[in-house]
Amino acid sequence: MLSIKDVSVRYGRSVQALRGVSFDVPEREVVAVLGSNGAGKSTLLRAISATLKLHRGTITGGEITFEGKRIDKMDPANIVLQRVMQVPEGRQIFGRMSVDENLRAGGLSADPKRRESARDRVYTLFPRLAERSKQPGLLLSGGEQQMLAIGRALMCEPKVLLMDEPSLGLAPQLVTRIGNIVTEINEMGTAVVLVEQNATMALRVAHRAVVLEVGELQLQGSAEELRNSEDVQHLYLGGH
Ligand code: ATP
Repeated sequence: MLSIKDVSVRYGRSVQALRGVSFDVPEREVVAVLGSNGAGKSTLLRAISATLKLHRGTITGGEITFEGKRIDKMDPANIVLQRVMQVPEGRQIFGRMSVDENLRAGGLSADPKRRESARDRVYTLFPRLAERSKQPGLLLSGGEQQMLAIGRALMCEPKVLLMDEPSLGLAPQLVTRIGNIVTEINEMGTAVVLVEQNATMALRVAHRAVVLEVGELQLQGSAEELRNSEDVQHLYLGGH
């Protein structure tokens, strides 16, 4: 459904952040993207969501297609209209707006008739947000802010959700909760590209995974294959 083919990305003149990366995200699957710091994971999501420009990056080769359509030349707003949504990096919720207003802002580009049911779905997925719907975003805990950022992206009923380290900085219990949420979102019919440093969680919830190293795709396979790979165990799962 989403196909990344031979994609290369540069920042400015000197930083080659991705080199010839290719993989597919099948419909309704969770694909984990693993790799150490600086491997190019965020860059990959920015390339898909067309937000590279905001970071002075450009796609210098290859193509990205979604449902058979080229999307690598589209602008970010157009990507959202294709219902490919990125949960913003660093959460970026509106601190002074209430939880409910944050969600409504997320649904502005969605079909007005579906906004209410989308919001109900978000509140079912995150009962904690429903309890705090009138509170300003800045009063939420880190975990709740992450849930709000995810909920806001879900307001457009995405076909593909791009998530950049949703577990970053969260307590272990919450990491498990975020993993379960990814599964629940996926079971509603949304494909997910999950960038994670927490490989254990990512490989638990993903169907497939790819491993990036210094801008190149090193490995790809089913989550089970990667869980059993000695390299992955050694480098990302804390094995020896
Ligand atoms: P992390 O987990 O640390 O965020 P990452 O795998 O997401 O790592 P990227 O953030 O995609 O990696 O970075 C890939 C490479 O591109 C790194 O060498 C990084 O320093 C560089 N890079 C990222 N953003 C920019 C930018 N705006 N300008 C210049 N170089 C950048």
